[in-house]
Amino acid sequence: MAEVFDRLRATFRSGRTRSVKWRADQLRGIERMVIDHEAKLLQAMADDFGKPRFEAWMTDLMPVAVEAAHARKHLARWMRARWTWPGKANIPGRSWTMPEPLGTVLIIAPWNYPVQLALSPLVAAVAAGNTAVLKPSELAPATSAALARLVPQYLDPRGVTVVEGAVDVSTELLELPFDHLFFTGSTTVGKVVMAAAARHLSSVTLELGGKSPVIVARDADIEIAARRIAWGKLLNAGQTCIAPDYVLVERPVADRLVDSVTSAMASLEGSDPHLTRTRIVNQRHLGRLESLLKESGGQVATGGTVDHDERWIEPTVVVDPDRSSALMRDEIFGPILPVVVVDSLDEAIGFVNERDKPLALYLFTGSRATERQIIEETSSGGVCVNHVVMHFLVPELPFGGVGPSGTGAYHGLAGFEELSHRKPILRRGVRPDLSVVYPPFTEAKERLLRRIL
Ligand code: NAD
Repeated sequence: MAEVFDRLRATFRSGRTRSVKWRADQLRGIERMVIDHEAKLLQAMADDFGKPRFEAWMTDLMPVAVEAAHARKHLARWMRARWTWPGKANIPGRSWTMPEPLGTVLIIAPWNYPVQLALSPLVAAVAAGNTAVLKPSELAPATSAALARLVPQYLDPRGVTVVEGAVDVSTELLELPFDHLFFTGSTTVGKVVMAAAARHLSSVTLELGGKSPVIVARDADIEIAARRIAWGKLLNAGQTCIAPDYVLVERPVADRLVDSVTSAMASLEGSDPHLTRTRIVNQRHLGRLESLLKESGGQVATGGTVDHDERWIEPTVVVDPDRSSALMRDEIFGPILPVVVVDSLDEAIGFVNERDKPLALYLFTGSRATERQIIEETSSGGVCVNHVVMHFLVPELPFGGVGPSGTGAYHGLAGFEELSHRKPILRRGVRPDLSVVYPPFTEAKERLLRRIL
């Protein structure tokens, strides 16, 4: 591992990765890799956790190709210097900022979107001119192996290396003095990564999890809200960091919403759910979901069946669970949707603000005033109004959490900036070299400076 690191650091120090050409070549490589080997990557994800073909293409491969193409298109502009006003104290002079790569970056990826969450951070890393080690998740072994095989064929092996393995490998990598750690995964492991970063004063991006709430106001379009919430919840069988975790719905529309979500889930599932839906990643997680359900204290409006052989759980809606149950405390990460009935939007806002700041907050309303109120009075990594998940796909919107849901952001320019150091530079003119700032400091000099500055 140390050898790999030394090699990548040497490549970085050689200056090889700084040119627009090297960066654009890597971005083109990433784009071509997911296009040329679409079938192989889709099969790997199906082998790992039964991910359906279309869903895997839409949520894993397509976003990577879009992100890489977007970065390539804008790269030269992002790399340009930005002039700034040097201030009266520095006339004559010029000042500007210049992005420079951070160095060698470690990317640790989760299993749930195993291609996208490995390669999108890599897009940001190479666009910014860094060398990188990519550690995919051991819980998606076929995808991890496919990436380890393909990356060296499409990217400069002197600049990018895939290291496969589990916690022991991650732990060993975290011992090394990487310039930046880009981690996507659970909040618990995020703390381990941040502690490791402290040892070398590496900078970090932490893309973590949490419970992303959905607020449904009484003036929302309930049918559309229900369909979109059900879609977002069932995507990847609920195993999505920005899945709508639970719903807070105003009482007058609560029954209608529960009915509509129930029928939306049934129609999205189709006639053979075993064929169309992603599996829960392993038996441990299935057991965890089963006990969340058992101990929820709520009323199951639909679903609830658990199939151990298929590692599958029926799309489930739980109405008014115990607010202190594990279902309402922990990130669910499965196709279970708790619906909590509230008497007002203020109650919904209070509910959100009493808990950790979420990665995403969703709001369904027909009113701009409600939209403004919720956006201003809550804090979350991002907000999406009248839909769920889709804000993730806007290349120019920074994506990231806040507080316990994460630190830093990426996608598009935000990713480029996140993995660059924006270096400030001042160039002063040599003449005149006014004596006013040099000692001895007289009252006349002070009077003059106070007047000018
Ligand atoms: P995880 O934290 O268990 O694992 C993520 C990665 O960290 C894996 O590569 C794993 O090998 C490694 N790892 C695990 N334990 C480690 C340790 N002790 N030390 C060092 N490395 C370790 O997460 P997961 O189960 O793969 O993914 C699910 C979690 O990730 C959920 O909480 C989800 O919300 C979150 N997530 C967040 C985002 C985001 O963009 N914010 C995206 C996807 C998933």
